[in-house]
Amino acid sequence: MFLHIAILRPLDEILLYKCPQELIKDAAVGKRVLVPLRTQRAIGLIMKISGSEDLQGLQDQKNIKSILKIIDPYPVIDESVISLCKWASDYYLFPVGMVLKTALSSLPTSKPPHQPTRIYSLLESIRQESRLSSPEVHDLTEEQKRAVNAIKQALLEDIFTVYLLHGVTGSGKTEVYIQAVDECKRLGKTSIVLVPEIAIASQLVTRFINRFGERVAVIHSGLTKGERLSEWLRIKEKKVDVLIGVRSAIFVPVDNLGLVVIDEEHESAYKQEEGFRYNARDVAIMRAKMLNATVILGSATPSLETLHNVHIGKYKYMSLPYRINKKPLPPVQIVDMRKRGAGTLLTKELQRAIKKRLDNKEQVILFLNRRGFSRFVLCDDCGYVPACPNCSVSLVYHRREGKICCHYCEYKAHPPDICPLCKGQNLKALGTGTERIEEELKGLFPEARILRMDKDTTSKRHAHHFILTSMEKMKAHILVGTQMVTKGLDLPEITLAGVLLADNLLHLPDFRSAERTFQLITQVAGRTGRKDKPGEVIVQTFNPDHYSILYASRYEFDRFYQFEKSYRKAAGYPPFKRLIRILLKGNKADNVISGSAMLKEMLDKYMDLTRIEIAGPVPAPFHKLRGKHRWHILLKSEDMKYMRTRLKKVLHTFAMEDTRGVQIEVDVDPLHIL
Ligand code: ADP
Ligand code: ZN
Repeated sequence: MFLHIAILRPLDEILLYKCPQELIKDAAVGKRVLVPLRTQRAIGLIMKISGSEDLQGLQDQKNIKSILKIIDPYPVIDESVISLCKWASDYYLFPVGMVLKTALSSLPTSKPPHQPTRIYSLLESIRQESRLSSPEVHDLTEEQKRAVNAIKQALLEDIFTVYLLHGVTGSGKTEVYIQAVDECKRLGKTSIVLVPEIAIASQLVTRFINRFGERVAVIHSGLTKGERLSEWLRIKEKKVDVLIGVRSAIFVPVDNLGLVVIDEEHESAYKQEEGFRYNARDVAIMRAKMLNATVILGSATPSLETLHNVHIGKYKYMSLPYRINKKPLPPVQIVDMRKRGAGTLLTKELQRAIKKRLDNKEQVILFLNRRGFSRFVLCDDCGYVPACPNCSVSLVYHRREGKICCHYCEYKAHPPDICPLCKGQNLKALGTGTERIEEELKGLFPEARILRMDKDTTSKRHAHHFILTSMEKMKAHILVGTQMVTKGLDLPEITLAGVLLADNLLHLPDFRSAERTFQLITQVAGRTGRKDKPGEVIVQTFNPDHYSILYASRYEFDRFYQFEKSYRKAAGYPPFKRLIRILLKGNKADNVISGSAMLKEMLDKYMDLTRIEIAGPVPAPFHKLRGKHRWHILLKSEDMKYMRTRLKKVLHTFAMEDTRGVQIEVDVDPLHIL
């Protein structure tokens, strides 16, 4: 017996091993094995099993090595997920062994887990809470009914169908997901619900557990080993009707998958930004396609890619245009910062609006996408700004910690008392981050309880949950934070949402910056006025006329979409042309530059330049990160397949050359080009 093994390392080939007599009865596709690899041992996965008659053509069968051990008592991945990984490896130009490694990342370790010390478990507390409350059941609105009926039809017919559920914030999308999952369950099939981040999805998880009780499994990186094993075993034993998880959950081998829901499909959290750079939304759609399953992509602000797929007839469109009970979307006021001069981001308008909420015992959320106290330190005499020695960015001052920190690597230092360049003593902390806003708020509203939610305050396990619970129980009045505050909150007393500075999003050198700005403003606005009390939104900006800000403030999704679409078309960006980004990194700038030039020459030679545009090489916007110099080349084409096949050939040739320590990272369908 011969085993085709994918080694869980960056290797492209699948290797052939013998299975010793005594292990034959245990060998099965999808189990992990220990194998000899050159002089070492390595872990691999059984992809296929062949008898020696299948390998007739093969020379010296005798020299094939034997596997050493079978690790798993049962397959940890099934054939359909193996096919999915093979597809992903081909599509994303990434070694199949490494794709499998990612796919297996949600596995509990194969060793028996030591009994976890009984630390507070988020999942358990949600389960307990929901046992106490009775499940909410709603009569569906007409629009919800229409959506649910269409999905039921697709589930019954077993034909691969993708639905875009475009529903404004608070329109009842989650309820549609729940009913669709219920129908899927009735048909004896399992559903997977993907969420961008589990911490911001705790309300969604609660609602599912309320409805489906013990038959919900949840998988995310915050689980203890024991929890992970227990969720995994329940899936294995078919005790689960719905699996809720973050992006890697799309690789979990659930039984008889019938439905995949991708909540907030436009979210960039679905894209893994290092190593295997896959987009879980797109992988999910492929998995559904392979299994004739149904997909629901839900969003209030769908991505341009998804809308494009609706327009060309690949996806079906369903909309929930109103909030439940036709509650109005909160009015958005734009505050023009140009007339304010430098100073605080807490403008008079905003202060007045906050005061009103505090007087009424209501709540406020404020969003700023910069953490830390001030954005940089500046020497007033010579203009010197302390920068990270490893990255091409300035250091951010964190007052509580008393350090200047890099937000891209681990670098931290004490802020200088005197300028190291001119020895001047006039160092200033300029620009504002969430930490400073928190301080300013405390000064302005001493009696209010203020919470901050950003990477600094949520690094501890479940800190996120505690912050949200404090808001829920009205133990806090103002929540200020980064992106984290813009999503998932569904609280009746939040009646004011403020975007402190919309421009921070707009000015990134990235073609999606307008789309992101539009999405973020819409999401922030979506946090208010969801229940009985009307909401209000304040957006502060130096660009009050920018189309993304204007259209978001008026909820004119179609106008925004048309405008953005024509810009993308003219500039040749997705969804009209597809992109592949090739990033070259190395310790020595010279080598990165010459490596980039060499690659560019090969690309020019091998590619039909009437079908592919090659931009670069140029330094990446972050031209140095974590000590590595970075250059990139951008490929654009309408024909992704052609572009990928050609690139594969070029990369193969390039790998044979002496690249002097320059590493290449390929990003197919990149979300960011920074
Ligand atoms: P979305 O996911 O689109 O933001 P939700 O599904 O969270 O919206 O719905 C918003 C609120 O409306 C929730 O509190 C939910 O319980 C409630 N809701 C949903 N559908 C209905 C309905 N048909 N009737 C009454 N309330 C509903
Ligand atoms: Zn750094």
